[in-house]
This record gives sequence, structure tokens and C-alpha cells, in this order.
Amino acid sequence: MEKTIIIGSGPAGWTAAIYAARASLSPLLIEGTVTQENQEKNRLPMGQLALTTEVENFPGFPPGDFSGYIDSAIPKGRKSMLPPRGAESTGVSGAELVELIRTQATLFGTRVVSDDIIDVDFSRLPYKLIGVTGNIYETQTAIIATGASANYLGLESEQRFKNRGVSACAICDGALPRFRNKPLAVIGGGDAAVEEAEHLTKFTSKVYLIHRRDQLRASKIVAKRAMEHPAIEILWNRIPEEILGNDKEGVTGILLKSTVDESMMELSVSGLFVAIGHTPNTEFLRGKLALTGKGFIVRPVPFRTNTNVPGVFTAGDVADDYYRQAISAAATGCMAALDAERYLASL
Ligand SMILES: Cc1cc2nc3c(=O)[nH]c(=O)nc-3n(C[C@H](O)[C@H](O)[C@H](O)COP(=O)(O)OP(=O)(O)OC[C@H]3O[C@@H](n4cnc5c(N)ncnc54)[C@H](O)[C@@H]3O)c2cc1C
Repeated sequence: MEKTIIIGSGPAGWTAAIYAARASLSPLLIEGTVTQENQEKNRLPMGQLALTTEVENFPGFPPGDFSGYIDSAIPKGRKSMLPPRGAESTGVSGAELVELIRTQATLFGTRVVSDDIIDVDFSRLPYKLIGVTGNIYETQTAIIATGASANYLGLESEQRFKNRGVSACAICDGALPRFRNKPLAVIGGGDAAVEEAEHLTKFTSKVYLIHRRDQLRASKIVAKRAMEHPAIEILWNRIPEEILGNDKEGVTGILLKSTVDESMMELSVSGLFVAIGHTPNTEFLRGKLALTGKGFIVRPVPFRTNTNVPGVFTAGDVADDYYRQAISAAATGCMAALDAERYLASL
């Protein structure tokens, strides 16, 4: 039986592993697998951060030439799997950053297994985690760090321009040079979409908020802010039909269809931010752990990582539909490992 098993290989999972390994808990980390279904759901080993290019806001990684450091820090076999650095790249990429955290965790003795957990039994100790491979893992404590995947529109052109003008995170990517002083669009109508649009107005004077209905879903006060904002123009009753662009410039526009009369409209923009929600990776926990209405894990004790099951802790975006940043995921990974260590000591 393991002392602690961590499910998920994003910043939350690897940070929990660093702390658990250094506390001599000898953690086993289950990192997920690469399958077509996981690919379609943006739910791959190394997590969401590995799917993005520059990361400008993780403390400790200002712009600079990290190539020598990355060469020396990351084992050769793993480095060959990273996307190549562009000639003009500065700072750290998402894939490099998660790989660095992984390296730190494995150097302290974290063991890694490729599997997807599809079911759990938390009714008695030892807790059982059932993998898609058929393996059953037994443990005294578990840290669930399975993340939440950003929802995308599902257009082929959207896939083509991801990281080249299409993003699912304005807070993460809005300040990148490619988006500065250019017309931008946000898709969505909830609080998060309005907040993303407002955030983008710090970098540009024109943001279109595109919504499929004739009323925003956002709370009244937030919706009013969007409607009165001089840099935000709301396009009602429109859905994206196609994202336009080319290999050199990335996104150059969007083709929008009216939800009222099906008429088409072409809009020139250099960036498209999809803000239509996140899907937490918690299907395997339904009925086993308290989840919110949207499927995020409930943390019943403020400022702690406990779930409603003793000895089961959670970290990162799977329990956070509010901050959703690599640094907040890593921070709760640290907290979950400390909580697991204290729980084990108390037994
Ligand atoms: C386009 C984009 C750009 C971003 N840019 C930035 C940025 O610049 N700065 C920043 O701070 N944040 C950024 N973020 C947000 C950041 O990536 C997330 O907040 C962070 O990755 C969350 O970490 P996590 O460990 O909680 O989950 P994730 O990174 O989502 O990792 C979840 C892990 O769980 C695994 N998993 C899921 N289900 C199972 C299962 N059943 N069994 C086993 N394993 C499973 C997955 O394979 C994955 O490894 C960005 C996000 C996106 C989408």
C-alpha cells in the first residue's frame, strides 16, 4: 500500500510530488495517458500549461535565454520530447516549465505511472484507485490534481490557430506582444467572458464581446460594466463559424453567423479568446466525492485542501473555478502534500 498517490501531472500534481517526496512519503504520481479521447478533451500528461507557448507570469522566469539552463536541467530523453525553441524565444515555455517541475519531483524520488484513473473506492482503507490499464492502486492518502480543461468551440480552424491568435486564457496570454494594440474578440457571455474582455482593454482599445444570445449571462453588475465600457463592443446573436488567418500572421479575423437569420459577417481581429467555461476532470469521482454543480471538487475547510473524504486532498484547477493559474495550482499542490503529511502523522 502506498502512503500517498497523486493523480495528475500538471503544476499542481508535480508540486505536490516535490513536497511529498521531500517528506519521505515516496509518492506515486499517476500522470494520465495519451489517447484520442484525452487529446480531444485537452486532457494530456503534463497538463494544460504544456499546451501553451510563452509563460510570462510564473515567478522566477523573466524573459531571458534559458536554453543553456534547460539543456543542463532536463534529462536528454525528456528534452527531445519538448517543442523546439524558436530563434526569437525568450523566457520559458509552458512545456519547459512543467518539464522542469517534473524533473525536480523525480529527482527527489517520485515514481511515475502512465495510467488514467477511471474509478475510485474511498469507502474503506486502503483507498483503491482503478486505472484504465486494469491496474488497482492502494493507498492511505490521495491527492487529486486532475485539472479542468478549457472548453473550445470545436472548429477545425480554431485548432489550427491555437497559440497563434486563439487562446482560452486572456489573463495568461493577453499581455503577449502579438495581441497588443490590436483589435481582439472574446467569445462568451458569462462573468468570466466579461472579465477577460475587460482585462484585454488594458492592452488594446478595441475588444469585441461576441455572444450567441441577446442578453449576457453575466451577473447584472458585471454585464452593465461591459455594456458601458468604451473599449468593449458587444456583438449580439452571433456565433463563430470560421476563424480566418494565415501561417505568417496567425489569426486575422472571424466569420460570424447570426443566430437570428443565419446572415454572415466578417470581423477583422488579431486574437480570439474563447471564454465558454471549463470542464473539470472529475467524471471518475461522481458519487465518490462531494462536487459542485459544475463538477469541481468541494473543499469544505477554508484555506485547506481537504475534500469531504478524510485522507483525500485536492490541488489545482480541479477544485478552482476562479483563479486557474499555474502558480495557484502549484501553491495548492504544496498545501495538499503538507496536509497529507500531517494527516498521515496524525493516524
Ligand atoms: C491556453 C492556456 C494558456 C495558459 N497560460 C498560462 C500562463 O501563461 N500562466 C499561468 O499561470 N497559467 C496559464 N494557464 C493556466 C494553467 O495552465 C493552469 O492553471 C494549470 O495548468 C493548472 O494546473 P493543474 O495541475 O491544476 O491542472 P492541469 O495542468 O490541467 O493538469 C491536469 C493533469 O491531470 C491529468 N489527468 C486528468 N484526468 C486524469 C485521470 N482521470 N487520471 C490520471 N490523470 C488525469 C492530465 O493528464 C493532466 O496531466 C493557461 C491555460 C491555458 C488553457
